[in-house]
Amino acid sequence: MTIRRIGRKASVLFFTCLWLLFSGCGSQASSNVVPAQKQETVSAQEPAQKQETAAPDAKSAAALTYITAADDFSNLNLDDPSRPVYDRYTLGERRAKGLPTVLPPIDPYEKHKTAYLTFDDGPDEKNTDAILNILKQEGVKATFYVVGRNVNAYPETVRRIFNEGHALGNHSYDHDYDRLYASVDNYLEEMEEADETIYNLIGMRPLITRAPGGRMSHFTEAYDAAVTVNGYVEHDWNVSSADSDPNGPVAQDFIDNIARQAAMDSAIILMHSSSGHEETVKALPEIIRVLRERGYTFGVVTPMTPQPW
Ligand SMILES: [Zn+2]
Repeated sequence: MTIRRIGRKASVLFFTCLWLLFSGCGSQASSNVVPAQKQETVSAQEPAQKQETAAPDAKSAAALTYITAADDFSNLNLDDPSRPVYDRYTLGERRAKGLPTVLPPIDPYEKHKTAYLTFDDGPDEKNTDAILNILKQEGVKATFYVVGRNVNAYPETVRRIFNEGHALGNHSYDHDYDRLYASVDNYLEEMEEADETIYNLIGMRPLITRAPGGRMSHFTEAYDAAVTVNGYVEHDWNVSSADSDPNGPVAQDFIDNIARQAAMDSAIILMHSSSGHEETVKALPEIIRVLRERGYTFGVVTPMTPQPW
């Protein structure tokens, strides 16, 4: 009798688990359901070998939320600003396999009123997680341009960014302007080092990058050319919260700055999630509210995101 009851309970539990598994109930991915066709495209491109290199939880949770670039980058013509795009190869692997590193000409997303919240310089021990909590609560995806040495210091936060369907971008390994802008070779070395740090953690390489201090302020033609040859897609910003202003700005300043500037169809908004940016965390819910009020939806930066200028 008792054994039969246990057996019945076990089978109810089994079928409940099965239902939860297939309905995606309770997982972050479920709030981000994509058409079945796209889900297949993504998972079909996941080589089994790569699934072993990344943390299994990271793979399962994020698998439905990102797009994997084709070997020849031929699938980068999508019009879906809600999903990040990653490469399954490092640049070193692409070179070794004779695969292209240069991206083909890419059509930017068609005109949508899209706001791209971008957070540079993280992750850190506190603010990046607080930002992720707010984004989760608001159902908003964002882009995190991370610094390689911080990726090493806070790997769990990087996994969380990836798992929760946000985009990870490369923001150099150590963010040292003197070194980065002393030579193109230094710059590329740093970018590749950051790539590999991220890749070792999540089994994917970001295609998007942001030059520390911005491309507009630091790049010469030689830098532009080197970045292109290596398939990095660089995005500066066209809306600045000015949250790294040295004069101690507060949350309301960032809200006002963004409200004043955000009028374009494609607004790439600069903020920071690193240590010391508590005011950015404080401002974020109101920033999201203001942008929504203006008719923006939120996207993540990909190679198809229109350039800000
Ligand atoms: Zn930076």
